[in-house]
Amino acid sequence: MSDCIFCKIANKQVPSTIVCEDEHAVAFRDLNPKASTHVLVVPKKHIKDLREAEPQDEQLLGHLLTMAAEVAKMDGVSESGFRVVINAGPDAGQSVDHLHVHVLGGRHLSWPPG
Ligand code: AMP
Repeated sequence: MSDCIFCKIANKQVPSTIVCEDEHAVAFRDLNPKASTHVLVVPKKHIKDLREAEPQDEQLLGHLLTMAAEVAKMDGVSESGFRVVINAGPDAGQSVDHLHVHVLGGRHLSWPPG
């Protein structure tokens, strides 16, 4: 999508701090981090949010989680623990309409989220 900020990051039209990338997905540091590790894993394919994912996206969705775990390992927060979050829709506070997986770690994360 031409006006999507995360598509632009994936296409390198907008700068970001990329930590991991392959042909299907890219992981980059959140601009406004909520923990010392706060990385967003996004599919290169534009999917608006989890509600728009289709059965043919199942492999891609699994791939995003695998990359999230890899990012946690690379950032050294895998052993201490980390959280993976997908916000979908207004009540969850989704602010960017391109599916993204938050990877948060490096501090104790309270539960439940606010
Ligand atoms: P959400 O509220 O779940 O939609 O998360 C969107 C996230 O994207 C927020 O944590 C923002 O800080 C982050 N964000 C927005 N624009 C950028 C950007 N250009 N580069 C990196 N992170 C961004």
